[in-house]
Amino acid sequence: MSDASKVLIIYTGGTIGMVEDPETGYLHAFDFDHLLEEIPELNKVDVELEVTSLEKPIDSSNMGPKIWVDLLEVIEQQYNAFDGFVILHGSDTMAYTASAMSFLLENVNKPIIFTGSQLPIGKIRTDGKENLITAIEIAGDYENGYPVVPEVAIYFEYALYRANRTTKISAENFEAFHSPNYPLLAEAGVHIKYNRFAIQKPEIAPLIARKQIVDDVASIKIFPGLQQKVFQAVANVPNLKGLIIETYGSGNAPSLPWLTEELVALNEKGVIVLNVTQCVTGKVIQGKYETGVHLERAGVISGEDMTYEAAITKMMYLLSCEELLLEEKKQYLETNLRGELS
Ligand code: ASP
Repeated sequence: MSDASKVLIIYTGGTIGMVEDPETGYLHAFDFDHLLEEIPELNKVDVELEVTSLEKPIDSSNMGPKIWVDLLEVIEQQYNAFDGFVILHGSDTMAYTASAMSFLLENVNKPIIFTGSQLPIGKIRTDGKENLITAIEIAGDYENGYPVVPEVAIYFEYALYRANRTTKISAENFEAFHSPNYPLLAEAGVHIKYNRFAIQKPEIAPLIARKQIVDDVASIKIFPGLQQKVFQAVANVPNLKGLIIETYGSGNAPSLPWLTEELVALNEKGVIVLNVTQCVTGKVIQGKYETGVHLERAGVISGEDMTYEAAITKMMYLLSCEELLLEEKKQYLETNLRGELS
């Protein structure tokens, strides 16, 4: 009997799953049941592969909490039967889905590797083949019975990133993602070089998948000239439970009395307001400038160096944790739960 790792590929959609019809030149969805015929190189990878798809593969712009639940269900049901998972996903919202999975799945101790591509797998210059093959290798990579990467990650263009640290930075380059505030988990060249110090330790408790996702959240990007009526339109959305404000620099926003009042009112209503910076690198320090202090005083929570994608999905996750009190949810937002903040 082979002791090769068992890896489940879950196809959700996106460019990677497209092939070009040789006669018409049109792109159409690839039949993943014939994966090994299309990519014979996979026969050489030392893992046992199985493939499944979400019911209806989608462009990832159509991804959202409802389909995250379908994905959570597949992972939960198959978790014990496989050593690792590769999730094929469109790159547009991959950082959101992968961040969401990193929070909604508690106690992950196996590799869950997202990948996709900028060019369809059926195109001659595709980046999809290398992304897929290496993602499979990483998902199946075990040493002395332990997975090398026991966490949710994204593999794209020779780099492995912690999922909840990523953001899509290019609509065109093969290097589509960055992890601005955290080192790479691995780099793939002739060998896959793991940065072991950067990789999470495995959790030992059983997997929990949070499937009652609370998505009553909104966000607003601060810009010079933002008007109170615009802010109010967002802040007064019925049933709002969490609001992200994207601020300047180290978490600063104009010291306008109306803004402070709106924020205080939100806090009093029990809406959690989380501050993330518009800057790509660095972090929110609300006490650094006067323009940040008024946010702190109004009860705004600091998002530290979280990406926008991590912040919004972590907010949904914590709002979904019914057993937590409001104050605990706020406290956890500022606490490192899955390696998402430094
Ligand atoms: N629009 C596509 C998607 O995100 C792009 C891609 O697959 O990279 O589904």
